[in-house]
Formats: sequence, C-alpha cells, structure tokens
Amino acid sequence: MNTFSRRNFLKAMGSATALATFPTILKAANTNPRVIVIGGGFAGATAAKYLKHWSPSLNVTLVEPNASYQSPILSNLVINGQKSLSDITFNYNALQQKYGANVVHEWVAGIDAAGKKVELTSGRTLEYDRLIVAPGISFNPVSGLDFDKIPHAWKSGDQLIQLKQQLDAMPAGGNFVMTIPPAPYRCPPGPYERACLVADYLRRNKPGSKVIVLDANPGIIAEKEAFSYAFNTTYAGIIEYHTDVVLESVDSDRRIAITDAGDFDADVLNVIPVQSAGKIITASGLANHASGRWANVDPLSYESTARPGIHVIGDSQGTGQPKAGHIANAEAKVCADAIIRLLGGRQPYQQPTTNSACYSPISTTTASWATVVYRYNPATKLMTPVPGSSGAAHRADRESYRDMLGWAGNLFDDTFA
Ligand SMILES: Cc1cc2nc3c(=O)[nH]c(=O)nc-3n(C[C@H](O)[C@H](O)[C@H](O)COP(=O)(O)OP(=O)(O)OC[C@H]3O[C@@H](n4cnc5c(N)ncnc54)[C@H](O)[C@@H]3O)c2cc1C
Repeated sequence: MNTFSRRNFLKAMGSATALATFPTILKAANTNPRVIVIGGGFAGATAAKYLKHWSPSLNVTLVEPNASYQSPILSNLVINGQKSLSDITFNYNALQQKYGANVVHEWVAGIDAAGKKVELTSGRTLEYDRLIVAPGISFNPVSGLDFDKIPHAWKSGDQLIQLKQQLDAMPAGGNFVMTIPPAPYRCPPGPYERACLVADYLRRNKPGSKVIVLDANPGIIAEKEAFSYAFNTTYAGIIEYHTDVVLESVDSDRRIAITDAGDFDADVLNVIPVQSAGKIITASGLANHASGRWANVDPLSYESTARPGIHVIGDSQGTGQPKAGHIANAEAKVCADAIIRLLGGRQPYQQPTTNSACYSPISTTTASWATVVYRYNPATKLMTPVPGSSGAAHRADRESYRDMLGWAGNLFDDTFA
C-alpha cells in the first residue's frame, strides 16, 4: 500500500466514522426519551440510577432540592449517640458521574400533566416523556404544633439534630413524651424503635427518666413480639406504653401533648404527626386514594391511575405496601423497568415482586427485624403478601444488629453508589 492510499484510507475511515456517529449523536440529543424524576430519596434516586443503568441512552433528570440526602434509616442511632449525621448522609455524585443522569437542585413547584412539563421554583420548565414522582411524605397539621420547638425528626437532617440536642439538655428524671400516628405512616416499626433507643440513651445518661409512648393505634403494629419484650422487660420501668391515644393539639411553648386521654407534660416532646403523600402529589391531582392522602397507581408500572404518563413510587404511593425505604428501592426498579418497556412500545412485566425489610435497633448491641415479600395478583390487580414469606424476630439479638449494618450498607450503596 503506498503512502497516499494509506493516508487517504485512514482519512476516509475517519470521515466515515464521523459521518456515521455525528448524526447519531445529534439524534440522541434531540430524540432520546426524557424521564424526569422528582425527589432523590430511596425511591427517586434508585429509579434514576436504574433507568440509566439499564438504558444508558435515556435522558434522565433527577430534580431534588438538596445537595445531599440524610437517611431516616438508622437515624435513631444518631439519637442514642452511636452514629453521626454524616454517617447516614449521601450525595448524587455517582448518579451524575457514573451513571450519567442530570441532577438539578431545585424544588418542583408544579406539574403540567397535559403539557408534560414540570415547573421549578426558579420559573424554569423541564419537559418529559415520562415522569416519576417520589417526594416522600408530608405532615398533616396539628393545632398548636410548631416544628421549630417540637421536632418530628421523621425525615432525618436538622430536625434529628434538634431532637438529639433537646435530649442532651434534658434533666435526669425527666419525661420524654412521644406520639405515634394511626397507620399507615412512614416506617411501621420506626416509632417503637425510637422509644427503645431513647430509653437506651436515657438509662445510660439521664437516670430516673421515662419514655411515655402515646400510640393512636390499638397496639404495637410491627415486630410486636420483639417490641413487647423490649418495652416490658429490657426497658421495664422506663418505657410507659399507652394505646388508642388520639392527639388533639399541642402546647409547643410548654411542651404539652393534649390528647383524648388527658394532657401529658414533657421535658422533651416528640410528635410524629399523621402523614400524607408529599405535597406535590396533592397539588398535582395525584392523591386519588380513598383517604385522599396517597396516590393510587397500577402496581405493574406505578403509573398513576389519575394522570397517565406520571408514575408515583415510595412513601407517596397508595398500593398498601409499607411506607419504607427498602421496598421503595424495589418499587423504583419495577417502575424503571416498566418505563423502559413502555418507551419501547412493550407492556410492563406482568409478575413483579417486591420485598420489604426493616431492621430495628433496640439497644447499642441488639436489633430486631421484620420482612415480607409481595407479588402482583392479576385477579385483584394488587400487590399481596406471598404466603409464608413474612417473618419477624421474636427477640432483639446481637446477630441481627450486625446483619442490620450490612443490610443498610447494601441498601445505601444500591441507591446512591
Ligand atoms: C426512624 C426511621 C427508621 C426507618 N427505618 C427503616 C428501615 O429499617 N427499613 C426501611 O425500609 N425503611 C425505614 N424507614 C423508612 C424510610 O426512611 C422511608 O420509607 C423512605 O425514606 C421513603 O423513601 P422516599 O424516596 O419515598 O422518600 P424520601 O426518602 O423522603 O425522599 C423524598 C425526596 O423528595 C424530595 N422532594 C419532596 N418534594 C419535592 C419537590 N416538590 N421537588 C423536588 N424534590 C422533592 C425531598 O427533598 C426528598 O429528598 C425508616 C424511617 C424512619 C423515620
């Protein structure tokens, strides 16, 4: 081959490659389907990651106001001093750099379902072909309740630190009073777990103190055997448990829970209010569950039954599956897979399964757990527990505490790394 022909061959190859790829790149930029995900928690961050992981050419944008995410999972370990907030803080770097999703740090102010657009608080609009909404929970108002004085600490972050500081400042022999809302709420075992870890902290640091639990439910609603043992034996004389107590109002200055069973004075008061889907769900006409609090969806795809093209996952959905991070991560994968199929003109997978797992630290060395698997039932079109799949610890133990840390690490990685 003479030099002329070799050089021209290479040049021609280069041009041909450029001609072959350039229009593809242009096409990719202009026509690749756009999926917007609202909310970067366990549900939204997982969905954005797996959409890009399974279909790299998709144009995926996560809209989340915060630069980092502070996990509610394991957050009670911050209260008893075993973890710091930074231990349970994650960012969106992997989502952007490893998976190639766009991340926009803004609030979504509104959804235009007909125009397939979301409006950001800055006034910018983003267009989508499919939209996933995963904004977690909002709190129903309670008369007199001021979160600046009475932290809920149910979304981790600053509120968690505020509650921890109040506990640190509490006198020995004082009363920690907490209220539990009627189910469904975020993390069914979470409030009982909190009662145990606050009791653990007070026993070690504020002798003579009590944890008074005011539960709106008729009894412990998750991990009943393990929590009953913890309340009656491990923390006997510290935890005082009351059932069927309805919170009516709060005196936030004097830290009093005013209930249908009387007034409860607290040195530290922790009100966990009744919960609903994230506010953007209600504002966008997606809260069509009979309660008016959650979004009904088709569990094959998590597509809203109120607004086609919009999918709702995580704590805001109203399928009856628990409001928990592990299962939010599973719902996100079912939803991402369904969206990829739908965008390709195919039907969602018809037999999805999801799994919930909760680990509950009970002391500095022991934890309990509960798990259940759900499968789609084509006859009822609902996710229903698979017979024999559910289980819960009888007692908290050390092995479960170790398993808990491994499980949480895997879930954090699967969502954010
Ligand atoms: C003490 C405690 C212990 C728990 N333990 C467990 C456990 O052991 N196992 C388990 O599975 N679960 C557990 N959970 C529950 C778990 O934390 C939640 O179920 C999970 O965080 C729900 O995920 P999500 O993505 O739906 O909501 P979130 O994690 O709350 O994420 C929602 C995101 O949406 C963003 N957002 C909201 N509105 C907008 C908007 N308009 N625009 C843009 N972004 C918006 C928010 O900033 C937030 O980052 C626990 C919870 C608590 C409180």
